[in-house]
Amino acid sequence: MRRPSSPAPRSWPTADTPRDNARTRRDGAPETAKQGRNLRVDAVIQNGTVVTASDMFLADIATRDGKITAIADRIKPPPDVRVINARGMLIMPGGVDVHTHLQTPGVLADTADDFFTGTVAAAHGGTTSIVNFCPQIRGQGLLASLAEHRRLADPKAVIDFALHSIVADPSEKTLSELGALPAEGVTSFKLFMAYKGDTMVDDGTMIRVLDEAARRGVVVMVHAENGDAVEFLRDRFAAEGKLSPRYHALSRPPRVEAEATNRAIALAEIAGAPLYIVHVSCAEALEEVRRGRARKVNVRAETCSHYLHITEEVFDQPGFEGGKYIYTPPPRTAGQPDILWEALSCGDLQVVSSDHGPFMFKGGKDIGRDDFRLIPNGAPGIEERMVLVWQGVVRGLLTPSRFVDLVSTTPAKLFGLYPAKGTIAIGADADIVVWDPAVERRLSVDALHSAVDYTMYEGKQVKGGVHTVLSRGDVIIENGMFRGAPGRGRYIMRQPASRAASG
Ligand SMILES: [Zn+2]
Repeated sequence: MRRPSSPAPRSWPTADTPRDNARTRRDGAPETAKQGRNLRVDAVIQNGTVVTASDMFLADIATRDGKITAIADRIKPPPDVRVINARGMLIMPGGVDVHTHLQTPGVLADTADDFFTGTVAAAHGGTTSIVNFCPQIRGQGLLASLAEHRRLADPKAVIDFALHSIVADPSEKTLSELGALPAEGVTSFKLFMAYKGDTMVDDGTMIRVLDEAARRGVVVMVHAENGDAVEFLRDRFAAEGKLSPRYHALSRPPRVEAEATNRAIALAEIAGAPLYIVHVSCAEALEEVRRGRARKVNVRAETCSHYLHITEEVFDQPGFEGGKYIYTPPPRTAGQPDILWEALSCGDLQVVSSDHGPFMFKGGKDIGRDDFRLIPNGAPGIEERMVLVWQGVVRGLLTPSRFVDLVSTTPAKLFGLYPAKGTIAIGADADIVVWDPAVERRLSVDALHSAVDYTMYEGKQVKGGVHTVLSRGDVIIENGMFRGAPGRGRYIMRQPASRAASG
């Protein structure tokens, strides 16, 4: 169903707005300061404007034992309780990034962030939960790969995390293990239709996995690009000596993505399985998603923050600068971001993730200085994601509530993290970002926290940003400093996707 796009309000309620103008409180009952005195709380956030996927209202919030325990007109904090003054700030659920590649071995290089640096960077950007892709280790089963990834993540993560299983080696043993994953908290599998000779699977494998997923209530995530067509174009460019980074993009044109998107949707339709298309980058693929949804196929789709801001002009830069923008699908033509923003606004796209796949520029990307085929595919964005999507609010393309929906609520619902994650509600985890809509800064690698040595947004002026971040009630970001400890993040045992997921 399409929702009408509504323009962002020019202003929102603040602590200076008379309180009678505020929206009705969640439980609808007045709460007096006197009652507030009896609350057992760990922290109180005062004077902020709460933003959920559906509402904006002035309220104070109390937390206790890692959860939100009160949302009230005014909460008078007991003595010796931590008070966060959020005057002029927005109080939003922490971001949920369902597409990250931390600590992932690659064919050409390993990703630069481990679960410590990657989750610290996420937290600085306002993200309090991630769902990372667990690679299938060659020759190992899915359960063994999962155990290995948990061994890496558990001692390092600083925010809560969950895992998707990549099905890359579709042996009988692998397929027989699919049914055991939900009991391990893994309620989504990922398949690649690209990267021939590596992780690419054929249609026969796809439909078997989709059928398994349909029976288990599991979501199948698909990287949709026609791997054979890409391989053909790469070989042709290489034979013609066309090896600069630009040819990475030219070997993966929009039709390559659109064809595979259409095929994935058709296979999911035949199997009756829920499908999630990762990193939709262009109008051509979006059109296939719209057609599938119009005929009631259970398909949802994300775009990524870089497709909203980066276009193919980056390949006009001198030297090997273009190597920084080698990700898949590639940067598109200049008109494409506006089409994606519109799709986010009207509901045709439901999520924005980062696809954080950080490879060092020096000693990583530059391996392919003379041949684009050797450049590791992926780019950093886990810390930049929230502020990049917020620019849509600044530009009047999204409402603050739609922003929350796209970066937190709907991803939490689609991947079984909701309602503990993805909303501000009594009983939810106190994963909260206090967001300053007025702050302005220039993005720079020097001020970011990933282990990678560049940002694709160096020098970009942005408005809005993180003020304070709480994870299960702990203040983990304050005054631009990280206050947590490695290993404090917990593994999230995910449920099957919420049937109530919007869109
Ligand atoms: Zn990815």
